Amino acid sequence: MPVVPMKQILDEAAKGAYGVGAFNVNNMEQIQGIMRAASETGSPVIIQASRGALKYTNMVYIKHLVQAALEENPDIPLALHLDHGNSLQTCKEAIELGFSSVMIDGSLKEDSKTPTTFEQNLEVTKSVVDYAHRYGVTVEGELGTLGGIEDGVGSGQVKLTDPQEAIKFIELSGVDALALAIGTSHGAYKFKAKPELALDIISSISEKLPDFPLVMHGSSSVPQELIDIINRYGGKLQSTMGVPMESIQEGIKRGIRKINVDTDGRLAMTGAVRKVLTQTPDVFDPRKYFGAARQAVYEVVKGKMQDFGTAGHAGDYQPLTLEDMKKYYS
Ligand SMILES: [Zn+2]
Repeated sequence: MPVVPMKQILDEAAKGAYGVGAFNVNNMEQIQGIMRAASETGSPVIIQASRGALKYTNMVYIKHLVQAALEENPDIPLALHLDHGNSLQTCKEAIELGFSSVMIDGSLKEDSKTPTTFEQNLEVTKSVVDYAHRYGVTVEGELGTLGGIEDGVGSGQVKLTDPQEAIKFIELSGVDALALAIGTSHGAYKFKAKPELALDIISSISEKLPDFPLVMHGSSSVPQELIDIINRYGGKLQSTMGVPMESIQEGIKRGIRKINVDTDGRLAMTGAVRKVLTQTPDVFDPRKYFGAARQAVYEVVKGKMQDFGTAGHAGDYQPLTLEDMKKYYS
């Protein structure tokens, strides 16, 4: 099966009222862990690569690792998505590489740090929509800015999404999905106390545009047990809190269809590697600790697929191709 347009995966999630995790990857073990979880739970899945990941993998490795994942899992709808594209040029490169979806984060300038105006955001987003749709590729935009910084992305300022502006933005830009700032935050150090998310923003948009897929970024839950494993085996992470699963599930009820998860996978892998190396200091076979890291990613992702309600939906529909989407958009 070729890569599936992300729009279809999100539209089907809207029909079934569930969420789909978008998991960041940089290497083979992450992809294998995620695909095993998807296959065992029967879940559609979004694999996403940041610009940092594209650089780390020299682009071509991501392409072929995902090709391997598709070959090994012909029954799992899989979208390959660019996370936080910063310009039309970056999105073009991802499309050329075979991505079925791109994010243009026009909430920040090309430096991925300076917030833009509504008009500046609309202009760059529209240019990506016009380009990507010609290839049948899905486009995710972002309005409002999140807290935290991850992979060099973030202004450090929080500006919650205005629902009226969001509706206008969706209509004028033609995006297929929109990331909202509702109080979530990028990175591991999100909150000192349990956060109150501005879930009403989701409801206000969904009331006007009932089936439009909304996206939550910075939505790792940063489970204490993962922090504890790292610190038990020589790590030094400060105590911190992520986005509670109940808040994400409430978001899904209100119209969130894509949930970005990066930090939890990183924490799980780091804990697993530290544990193996600490408990068996004579080990020097990388398969021992990378294998443990892969297992840890699998466990975390499997839990998310169950909690987001994605499990069991892989066979609900006949996957479309980018060619089908080209016709749809034209
Ligand atoms: Zn993000």
